[in-house]
Amino acid sequence: MRAVTIVGAGLAGWHAARELRAQGFDDTITVIGAEPRLPYDRPPLSKRFLRGEVDEARLALSDEAELTEVDAHWITGRHATRLDRRTRTVELDDGTAIRSDGVVIATGARATTLPGLTGVAGVHTLRTLADARALRAALTEGTPRTVVIGAGFIGAEVAATCHALGLPVTVVEAAEVPLARVLGPTVGAICGELHRDHGVTMHCGFGVAGLRTAPYRRDGAGDGTRWKAPRTEGASRVTAVLGRDGRELAADVVVVGIGSRPEVEWLAGSGLDITDGVGCDAVGATALPGVVALGDVARYADPRGGSRRHEHWTAAVEQAPVAVRTLLTGRSHGEGGTDPVPNRVPYFWSDQYSTRVQLAGCPDAADDLEVVEGSFVDRDFVAVYRRRGRLTGVVAMNRGRGFTRLRRELRTATDRAVESSPAAST
Ligand code: FAD
Repeated sequence: MRAVTIVGAGLAGWHAARELRAQGFDDTITVIGAEPRLPYDRPPLSKRFLRGEVDEARLALSDEAELTEVDAHWITGRHATRLDRRTRTVELDDGTAIRSDGVVIATGARATTLPGLTGVAGVHTLRTLADARALRAALTEGTPRTVVIGAGFIGAEVAATCHALGLPVTVVEAAEVPLARVLGPTVGAICGELHRDHGVTMHCGFGVAGLRTAPYRRDGAGDGTRWKAPRTEGASRVTAVLGRDGRELAADVVVVGIGSRPEVEWLAGSGLDITDGVGCDAVGATALPGVVALGDVARYADPRGGSRRHEHWTAAVEQAPVAVRTLLTGRSHGEGGTDPVPNRVPYFWSDQYSTRVQLAGCPDAADDLEVVEGSFVDRDFVAVYRRRGRLTGVVAMNRGRGFTRLRRELRTATDRAVESSPAAST
Protein backbone atom coordinates (compact mmCIF):
# COMPACT_ATOMS: atom_id res chain seq x y z
CA MET A 1 0.00 0.00 0.00
CA ARG A 2 1.58 3.30 -1.11
CA ALA A 3 -1.00 5.99 -0.43
CA VAL A 4 -3.78 6.30 2.13
CA THR A 5 -6.43 9.03 2.13
CA ILE A 6 -8.23 9.81 5.36
CA VAL A 7 -11.49 11.69 4.89
CA GLY A 8 -12.41 13.67 8.02
CA ALA A 9 -9.87 15.63 10.08
CA GLY A 10 -11.47 15.10 13.47
CA LEU A 11 -10.63 12.87 16.42
CA ALA A 12 -11.01 9.63 14.46
CA GLY A 13 -9.09 10.94 11.43
CA TRP A 14 -6.22 12.14 13.61
CA HIS A 15 -5.96 8.83 15.48
CA ALA A 16 -6.12 6.90 12.21
CA ALA A 17 -3.16 8.95 10.89
CA ARG A 18 -1.15 8.33 14.09
CA GLU A 19 -1.94 4.62 13.96
CA LEU A 20 -0.84 4.32 10.35
CA ARG A 21 2.63 5.54 11.39
CA ALA A 22 2.61 3.49 14.61
CA GLN A 23 1.88 0.37 12.57
CA GLY A 24 4.78 1.07 10.21
CA PHE A 25 3.11 2.69 7.20
CA ASP A 26 5.79 5.01 5.82
CA ASP A 27 4.30 6.25 2.57
CA THR A 28 1.87 9.08 1.73
CA ILE A 29 -0.97 10.00 4.08
CA THR A 30 -3.43 12.65 2.92
CA VAL A 31 -6.05 13.95 5.34
CA ILE A 32 -9.04 15.88 4.04
CA GLY A 33 -11.05 18.00 6.47
CA ALA A 34 -14.12 20.13 5.81
CA GLU A 35 -13.33 22.51 8.68
CA PRO A 36 -10.67 25.15 8.14
CA ARG A 37 -8.35 23.83 10.87
CA LEU A 38 -6.39 20.86 12.13
CA PRO A 39 -8.11 18.31 14.40
CA TYR A 40 -9.39 19.57 17.74
CA ASP A 41 -11.20 18.13 20.72
CA ARG A 42 -14.99 18.53 20.83
CA PRO A 43 -15.91 17.65 24.45
CA PRO A 44 -14.78 21.06 25.84
CA LEU A 45 -17.07 22.84 23.35
CA SER A 46 -20.12 22.32 25.57
CA LYS A 47 -18.18 22.70 28.82
CA ARG A 48 -14.94 24.61 29.50
CA PHE A 49 -14.73 26.37 26.13
CA LEU A 50 -18.34 27.53 26.34
CA ARG A 51 -17.71 28.81 29.86
CA GLY A 52 -14.72 30.76 28.55
CA GLU A 53 -12.19 28.78 30.60
CA VAL A 54 -10.03 27.52 27.73
CA ASP A 55 -9.08 29.20 24.50
CA GLU A 56 -9.09 27.71 21.01
CA ALA A 57 -5.39 26.88 20.98
CA ARG A 58 -5.90 24.50 23.92
CA LEU A 59 -8.40 22.43 21.93
CA ALA A 60 -5.81 21.20 19.41
CA LEU A 61 -5.34 17.41 19.42
CA SER A 62 -1.73 17.60 18.30
CA ASP A 63 1.37 19.68 18.89
CA GLU A 64 4.07 20.55 16.35
CA ALA A 65 6.19 17.53 17.24
CA GLU A 66 3.31 15.09 16.73
CA LEU A 67 2.37 16.70 13.44
CA THR A 68 5.95 16.37 12.24
CA GLU A 69 6.05 12.75 13.32
CA VAL A 70 2.82 11.88 11.52
CA ASP A 71 3.98 13.82 8.46
CA ALA A 72 0.62 13.87 6.67
CA HIS A 73 -0.47 16.12 3.82
CA TRP A 74 -3.39 18.16 5.23
CA ILE A 75 -6.12 19.53 2.98
CA THR A 76 -8.44 21.56 5.23
CA GLY A 77 -11.51 23.62 4.39
CA ARG A 78 -12.48 21.17 1.63
CA HIS A 79 -15.37 18.69 1.47
CA ALA A 80 -15.04 15.26 -0.08
CA THR A 81 -17.97 14.98 -2.47
CA ARG A 82 -17.61 11.48 -3.92
CA LEU A 83 -15.82 8.17 -3.58
CA ASP A 84 -15.18 6.14 -6.72
CA ARG A 85 -15.34 2.52 -5.64
CA ARG A 86 -13.27 1.09 -8.50
CA THR A 87 -10.24 3.36 -8.24
CA ARG A 88 -10.66 4.48 -4.61
CA THR A 89 -10.56 8.06 -5.83
CA VAL A 90 -11.85 10.73 -3.46
CA GLU A 91 -13.22 13.81 -5.21
CA LEU A 92 -13.25 17.20 -3.49
CA ASP A 93 -15.53 20.22 -3.83
CA ASP A 94 -12.85 22.14 -5.74
CA GLY A 95 -12.60 19.43 -8.41
CA THR A 96 -9.43 17.81 -7.03
CA ALA A 97 -9.36 14.01 -7.30
CA ILE A 98 -7.12 11.96 -5.02
CA ARG A 99 -6.50 8.36 -5.94
CA SER A 100 -5.14 6.03 -3.27
CA ASP A 101 -4.65 2.42 -2.29
CA GLY A 102 -6.50 2.78 0.99
CA VAL A 103 -9.30 5.05 2.18
CA VAL A 104 -10.25 5.74 5.81
CA ILE A 105 -13.72 7.20 6.29
CA ALA A 106 -13.83 9.39 9.41
CA THR A 107 -16.36 12.10 8.56
CA GLY A 108 -18.17 12.03 11.90
CA ALA A 109 -21.67 13.42 12.27
CA ARG A 110 -23.57 16.68 12.15
CA ALA A 111 -26.07 18.08 14.62
CA THR A 112 -29.70 17.59 13.68
CA THR A 113 -32.35 20.23 14.15
CA LEU A 114 -36.14 20.49 13.95
CA PRO A 115 -38.04 21.63 10.87
CA GLY A 116 -38.60 25.38 10.84
CA LEU A 117 -35.75 26.14 13.24
CA THR A 118 -33.02 26.84 10.72
CA GLY A 119 -32.10 30.32 9.56
CA VAL A 120 -33.65 32.04 12.59
CA ALA A 121 -31.26 34.32 14.50
CA GLY A 122 -30.71 33.15 18.07
CA VAL A 123 -31.18 29.43 17.25
CA HIS A 124 -28.05 27.31 17.64
CA THR A 125 -26.80 23.75 17.35
CA LEU A 126 -23.46 22.64 18.78
CA ARG A 127 -21.07 20.39 16.89
CA THR A 128 -18.14 22.44 15.66
CA LEU A 129 -15.82 25.07 17.00
CA ALA A 130 -17.61 27.62 14.79
CA ASP A 131 -20.93 26.61 16.43
CA ALA A 132 -19.37 26.95 19.89
CA ARG A 133 -17.91 30.36 19.09
CA ALA A 134 -21.31 31.59 17.86
CA LEU A 135 -23.12 30.18 20.89
CA ARG A 136 -20.56 31.60 23.30
CA ALA A 137 -20.94 35.04 21.69
CA ALA A 138 -24.74 34.82 22.03
CA LEU A 139 -24.56 33.73 25.67
CA THR A 140 -22.27 36.56 26.61
CA GLU A 141 -24.31 39.33 24.96
CA GLY A 142 -26.39 40.69 27.81
CA THR A 143 -28.36 38.17 29.87
CA PRO A 144 -30.24 36.13 27.29
CA ARG A 145 -33.09 33.84 28.35
CA THR A 146 -31.98 30.49 27.00
CA VAL A 147 -34.12 27.49 26.12
CA VAL A 148 -32.35 24.19 25.49
CA ILE A 149 -34.33 21.73 23.39
CA GLY A 150 -33.36 18.18 24.36
CA ALA A 151 -32.00 16.97 27.71
CA GLY A 152 -29.47 14.56 26.21
CA PHE A 153 -25.83 14.90 27.18
CA ILE A 154 -25.01 17.93 25.03
CA GLY A 155 -28.24 19.72 25.99
CA ALA A 156 -27.60 18.95 29.66
CA GLU A 157 -24.02 20.24 29.47
CA VAL A 158 -25.12 23.45 27.73
CA ALA A 159 -27.78 23.99 30.42
CA ALA A 160 -25.13 23.49 33.13
CA THR A 161 -22.85 25.97 31.35
CA CYS A 162 -25.66 28.58 31.13
CA HIS A 163 -26.21 28.10 34.85
CA ALA A 164 -22.49 28.59 35.50
CA LEU A 165 -22.63 31.81 33.45
CA GLY A 166 -25.51 33.03 35.62
CA LEU A 167 -28.09 32.89 32.82
CA PRO A 168 -31.74 31.96 33.17
CA VAL A 169 -32.16 28.62 31.40
CA THR A 170 -35.04 26.28 30.65
CA VAL A 171 -34.66 22.73 29.33
CA VAL A 172 -37.45 21.07 27.37
CA GLU A 173 -37.44 17.35 26.73
CA ALA A 174 -39.86 15.25 24.69
CA ALA A 175 -39.47 12.16 26.89
CA GLU A 176 -41.09 11.92 30.30
CA VAL A 177 -37.70 11.18 31.90
CA PRO A 178 -34.45 12.62 30.50
CA LEU A 179 -31.82 10.14 29.28
CA ALA A 180 -34.02 7.17 30.27
CA ARG A 181 -33.25 5.38 26.99
CA VAL A 182 -29.50 5.43 27.74
CA LEU A 183 -29.32 5.35 31.54
CA GLY A 184 -32.68 3.82 32.47
CA PRO A 185 -35.52 5.59 34.30
CA THR A 186 -33.89 5.72 37.75
CA VAL A 187 -30.60 7.34 36.78
CA GLY A 188 -32.38 9.43 34.12
CA ALA A 189 -34.65 10.88 36.81
CA ILE A 190 -31.60 11.66 38.97
CA CYS A 191 -30.11 13.59 36.02
CA GLY A 192 -33.37 15.56 35.78
CA GLU A 193 -33.21 16.41 39.50
CA LEU A 194 -29.65 17.61 39.04
CA HIS A 195 -30.95 20.39 36.75
CA ARG A 196 -33.87 21.29 38.98
CA ASP A 197 -31.70 21.48 42.10
CA HIS A 198 -29.53 24.03 40.31
CA GLY A 199 -32.56 26.20 39.65
CA VAL A 200 -32.82 25.21 35.99
CA THR A 201 -36.43 24.96 34.83
CA MET A 202 -37.11 21.60 33.23
CA HIS A 203 -40.21 20.58 31.25
CA CYS A 204 -40.39 16.88 30.40
CA GLY A 205 -42.96 15.48 27.98
CA PHE A 206 -42.68 18.78 26.09
CA GLY A 207 -43.24 18.52 22.33
CA VAL A 208 -41.89 21.51 20.40
CA ALA A 209 -44.43 22.88 17.91
CA GLY A 210 -42.26 25.71 16.59
CA LEU A 211 -40.91 29.13 17.41
CA ARG A 212 -42.33 32.56 17.83
CA THR A 213 -40.13 35.01 15.96
CA ALA A 214 -39.90 38.75 15.51
CA PRO A 215 -38.27 40.81 12.78
CA TYR A 216 -34.61 41.22 13.57
CA ARG A 217 -33.63 44.52 15.24
CA ARG A 218 -30.05 45.41 15.94
CA ASP A 219 -30.81 47.06 19.31
CA GLY A 220 -32.94 44.15 20.54
CA ALA A 221 -35.58 46.80 21.42
CA GLY A 222 -36.71 46.57 24.95
CA ASP A 223 -35.15 43.36 26.20
CA GLY A 224 -31.71 44.75 27.01
CA THR A 225 -30.00 42.36 24.62
CA ARG A 226 -28.09 43.39 21.53
CA TRP A 227 -28.02 41.06 18.53
CA LYS A 228 -25.45 40.36 15.90
CA ALA A 229 -26.83 40.94 12.42
CA PRO A 230 -27.96 37.69 10.81
CA ARG A 231 -26.54 37.07 7.34
CA THR A 232 -29.90 36.70 5.66
CA GLU A 233 -31.70 39.81 4.51
CA GLY A 234 -35.05 40.21 6.28
CA ALA A 235 -34.22 37.50 8.82
CA SER A 236 -36.14 37.16 12.00
CA ARG A 237 -34.98 36.25 15.48
CA VAL A 238 -36.46 33.91 18.02
CA THR A 239 -38.59 35.28 20.86
CA ALA A 240 -40.20 32.10 22.22
CA VAL A 241 -40.36 28.32 21.92
CA LEU A 242 -43.90 27.04 21.40
CA GLY A 243 -45.11 23.76 22.86
CA ARG A 244 -47.64 21.46 21.19
CA ASP A 245 -49.82 21.87 24.28
CA GLY A 246 -49.97 25.66 23.80
CA ARG A 247 -47.22 26.55 26.28
CA GLU A 248 -44.93 29.39 25.25
CA LEU A 249 -41.43 29.80 26.70
CA ALA A 250 -39.78 33.19 26.20
CA ALA A 251 -36.34 32.79 24.63
CA ASP A 252 -33.58 35.01 23.30
CA VAL A 253 -31.30 32.05 22.60
CA VAL A 254 -32.41 28.52 21.69
CA VAL A 255 -29.99 25.59 21.64
CA VAL A 256 -31.20 22.51 19.80
CA GLY A 257 -29.55 19.39 21.25
CA ILE A 258 -31.60 16.56 19.81
CA GLY A 259 -28.88 14.34 18.37
CA SER A 260 -26.82 13.98 15.23
CA ARG A 261 -26.78 12.39 11.79
CA PRO A 262 -23.77 10.63 10.29
CA GLU A 263 -21.97 12.52 7.50
CA VAL A 264 -22.52 9.99 4.71
CA GLU A 265 -24.13 11.96 1.87
CA TRP A 266 -20.82 12.22 0.01
CA LEU A 267 -20.73 8.41 -0.17
CA ALA A 268 -24.01 8.07 -2.09
CA GLY A 269 -23.48 5.81 -5.10
CA SER A 270 -20.19 4.42 -3.75
CA GLY A 271 -21.66 0.98 -3.18
CA LEU A 272 -21.28 1.27 0.59
CA ASP A 273 -24.12 0.59 2.98
CA ILE A 274 -24.80 4.07 4.38
CA THR A 275 -28.02 3.46 6.28
CA ASP A 276 -27.46 5.27 9.59
CA GLY A 277 -23.70 5.40 9.12
CA VAL A 278 -21.18 3.40 7.14
CA GLY A 279 -21.82 -0.31 7.70
CA CYS A 280 -18.66 -2.12 8.88
CA ASP A 281 -17.85 -5.50 10.33
CA ALA A 282 -16.55 -5.67 13.91
CA VAL A 283 -13.01 -4.63 12.87
CA GLY A 284 -13.87 -1.65 10.66
CA ALA A 285 -13.88 -3.28 7.21
CA THR A 286 -16.55 -1.92 4.87
CA ALA A 287 -18.03 -3.78 1.92
CA LEU A 288 -15.38 -2.19 -0.37
CA PRO A 289 -11.84 -3.61 -0.39
CA GLY A 290 -9.28 -1.10 0.88
CA VAL A 291 -11.90 1.09 2.56
CA VAL A 292 -12.37 1.19 6.34
CA ALA A 293 -14.41 3.46 8.59
CA LEU A 294 -14.29 4.59 12.21
CA GLY A 295 -15.62 7.16 14.65
CA ASP A 296 -19.10 8.65 14.81
CA VAL A 297 -19.79 7.96 11.12
CA ALA A 298 -19.16 4.21 11.41
CA ARG A 299 -21.76 1.58 12.28
CA TYR A 300 -19.84 -1.43 13.58
CA ALA A 301 -21.19 -4.98 13.76
CA ASP A 302 -21.83 -5.68 17.41
CA PRO A 303 -20.42 -8.97 18.68
CA ARG A 304 -23.67 -9.33 20.66
CA GLY A 305 -25.68 -9.10 17.43
CA GLY A 306 -26.88 -6.30 15.15
CA SER A 307 -24.77 -3.20 14.57
CA ARG A 308 -24.56 0.25 16.06
CA ARG A 309 -22.77 3.59 15.94
CA HIS A 310 -20.83 4.58 19.04
CA GLU A 311 -20.80 8.37 19.18
CA HIS A 312 -18.28 8.69 21.97
CA TRP A 313 -14.76 9.99 22.23
CA THR A 314 -13.31 6.68 23.48
CA ALA A 315 -14.92 4.67 20.68
CA ALA A 316 -13.16 6.72 17.99
CA VAL A 317 -9.81 6.29 19.77
CA GLU A 318 -10.23 2.55 20.39
CA GLN A 319 -11.39 1.82 16.85
CA ALA A 320 -8.32 3.47 15.28
CA PRO A 321 -5.69 0.70 15.84
CA VAL A 322 -8.14 -1.99 14.77
CA ALA A 323 -9.46 -0.24 11.64
CA VAL A 324 -5.91 0.66 10.58
CA ARG A 325 -4.71 -2.94 11.01
CA THR A 326 -7.70 -4.09 8.97
CA LEU A 327 -6.65 -1.69 6.21
CA LEU A 328 -2.94 -2.49 6.24
CA THR A 329 -3.43 -6.26 6.34
CA GLY A 330 -6.02 -6.15 3.55
CA ARG A 331 -8.68 -7.99 5.54
CA SER A 332 -11.95 -8.13 3.73
CA HIS A 333 -15.40 -7.54 5.16
CA GLY A 334 -16.48 -10.28 7.56
CA GLU A 335 -13.08 -11.96 7.63
CA GLY A 336 -12.52 -10.83 11.23
CA GLY A 337 -9.10 -10.67 12.81
CA THR A 338 -7.04 -11.37 15.87
CA ASP A 339 -7.25 -7.88 17.38
CA PRO A 340 -9.47 -7.39 20.38
CA VAL A 341 -12.72 -6.14 18.89
CA PRO A 342 -13.43 -2.51 19.88
CA ASN A 343 -16.78 -1.35 21.26
CA ARG A 344 -17.41 -4.41 23.37
CA VAL A 345 -17.81 -2.19 26.39
CA PRO A 346 -18.61 1.31 25.11
CA TYR A 347 -17.75 4.12 27.50
CA PHE A 348 -18.56 7.78 27.84
CA TRP A 349 -18.54 10.53 30.39
CA SER A 350 -20.48 13.77 30.73
CA ASP A 351 -19.73 16.72 33.01
CA GLN A 352 -22.75 18.64 34.27
CA TYR A 353 -22.52 21.24 37.07
CA SER A 354 -19.92 19.69 39.40
CA THR A 355 -21.07 16.16 38.62
CA ARG A 356 -19.33 13.65 36.37
CA VAL A 357 -21.65 11.00 34.94
CA GLN A 358 -19.94 7.88 33.52
CA LEU A 359 -21.47 4.92 31.76
CA ALA A 360 -19.88 1.72 30.47
CA GLY A 361 -21.60 -1.05 28.57
CA CYS A 362 -24.92 -1.29 26.75
CA PRO A 363 -27.61 -1.55 29.39
CA ASP A 364 -31.30 -1.63 28.48
CA ALA A 365 -33.78 0.65 30.19
CA ALA A 366 -35.46 -2.48 31.60
CA ASP A 367 -32.29 -3.96 33.17
CA ASP A 368 -32.12 -4.34 36.97
CA LEU A 369 -30.11 -1.62 38.68
CA GLU A 370 -28.23 -2.09 41.94
CA VAL A 371 -26.14 0.44 43.88
CA VAL A 372 -22.69 -0.92 44.71
CA GLU A 373 -21.17 2.16 46.40
CA GLY A 374 -22.63 5.44 47.69
CA SER A 375 -26.27 6.42 47.26
CA PHE A 376 -28.68 7.77 44.63
CA VAL A 377 -29.98 10.35 47.13
CA ASP A 378 -26.53 11.95 47.45
CA ARG A 379 -25.97 11.71 43.67
CA ASP A 380 -22.69 10.04 44.54
CA PHE A 381 -22.73 6.39 43.55
CA VAL A 382 -21.60 3.50 41.41
CA ALA A 383 -24.35 1.15 40.28
CA VAL A 384 -24.49 -1.89 38.01
CA TYR A 385 -27.12 -3.00 35.51
CA ARG A 386 -27.95 -6.71 35.20
CA ARG A 387 -30.09 -8.70 32.81
CA ARG A 388 -31.05 -12.17 34.01
CA GLY A 389 -28.20 -11.92 36.48
CA ARG A 390 -25.61 -11.00 33.82
CA LEU A 391 -23.68 -7.71 34.18
CA THR A 392 -24.62 -5.36 31.27
CA GLY A 393 -23.44 -1.94 32.40
CA VAL A 394 -21.89 0.27 35.06
CA VAL A 395 -22.99 3.82 35.83
CA ALA A 396 -21.52 6.33 38.25
CA MET A 397 -21.89 9.86 39.48
CA ASN A 398 -18.70 11.31 40.95
CA ARG A 399 -17.19 7.89 41.81
CA GLY A 400 -14.33 7.51 39.33
CA ARG A 401 -12.38 4.88 41.25
CA GLY A 402 -15.21 2.47 41.91
CA PHE A 403 -16.44 2.97 38.37
CA THR A 404 -13.06 2.06 36.87
CA ARG A 405 -12.88 -1.15 38.92
CA LEU A 406 -16.36 -2.27 37.87
CA ARG A 407 -15.78 -1.22 34.27
CA ARG A 408 -12.81 -3.61 34.24
CA GLU A 409 -15.00 -6.40 35.62
CA LEU A 410 -17.63 -5.67 32.99
CA ARG A 411 -14.98 -5.87 30.27
CA THR A 412 -13.79 -9.27 31.47
CA ALA A 413 -17.35 -10.60 31.74
CA THR A 414 -18.26 -9.25 28.29
CA ASP A 415 -15.12 -10.72 26.66
CA ARG A 416 -15.98 -14.11 28.14
CA ALA A 417 -19.60 -13.91 26.98
CA VAL A 418 -18.64 -12.75 23.46
CA GLU A 419 -15.92 -15.35 22.99
CA SER A 420 -18.30 -18.15 23.85
CA SER A 421 -20.95 -16.86 21.39
CA PRO A 422 -21.00 -17.91 17.70
CA ALA A 423 -21.12 -14.26 16.48
CA ALA A 424 -17.72 -13.54 18.06
CA SER A 425 -15.67 -13.98 14.93
CA THR A 426 -17.63 -11.55 12.75
P1 FAD B 1 -15.81 14.48 14.32
O1 FAD B 1 -15.10 14.88 15.57
O2 FAD B 1 -17.15 15.03 14.05
O3 FAD B 1 -14.85 14.71 13.07
C1 FAD B 1 -15.28 14.50 11.76
C2 FAD B 1 -14.64 15.55 10.87
O4 FAD B 1 -14.94 15.21 9.51
C3 FAD B 1 -15.22 16.94 11.09
O5 FAD B 1 -14.19 17.87 11.24
C4 FAD B 1 -16.03 17.22 9.83
O6 FAD B 1 -16.04 18.57 9.45
C5 FAD B 1 -15.26 16.39 8.80
N1 FAD B 1 -16.09 16.08 7.62
C6 FAD B 1 -17.41 15.76 7.59
N2 FAD B 1 -17.80 15.55 6.31
C7 FAD B 1 -16.70 15.73 5.54
C8 FAD B 1 -16.47 15.64 4.13
N3 FAD B 1 -17.45 15.31 3.27
N4 FAD B 1 -15.22 15.90 3.68
C9 FAD B 1 -14.22 16.22 4.53
N5 FAD B 1 -14.39 16.31 5.88
C10 FAD B 1 -15.61 16.06 6.37
N6 FAD B 1 -17.94 12.22 23.91
C11 FAD B 1 -17.69 11.72 25.15
O7 FAD B 1 -17.42 10.52 25.29
N7 FAD B 1 -17.75 12.55 26.26
C12 FAD B 1 -18.06 13.88 26.17
O8 FAD B 1 -18.11 14.59 27.18
C13 FAD B 1 -18.34 14.41 24.87
N8 FAD B 1 -18.66 15.71 24.72
C14 FAD B 1 -18.97 16.19 23.48
C15 FAD B 1 -19.36 17.53 23.34
C16 FAD B 1 -19.70 18.04 22.09
C17 FAD B 1 -20.13 19.47 21.96
C18 FAD B 1 -19.65 17.20 20.95
C19 FAD B 1 -20.03 17.73 19.59
C20 FAD B 1 -19.26 15.88 21.07
C21 FAD B 1 -18.92 15.36 22.34
N9 FAD B 1 -18.53 14.03 22.50
C22 FAD B 1 -18.26 13.53 23.76
C23 FAD B 1 -18.46 13.12 21.34
C24 FAD B 1 -17.06 13.07 20.71
O9 FAD B 1 -16.50 14.35 20.62
C25 FAD B 1 -17.20 12.42 19.32
O10 FAD B 1 -17.59 11.09 19.54
C26 FAD B 1 -15.91 12.50 18.52
O11 FAD B 1 -15.61 13.84 18.21
C27 FAD B 1 -16.05 11.71 17.22
O12 FAD B 1 -14.94 11.91 16.41
P2 FAD B 1 -15.02 11.76 14.82
O13 FAD B 1 -13.65 12.07 14.34
O14 FAD B 1 -15.67 10.48 14.48
O15 FAD B 1 -16.04 12.87 14.34
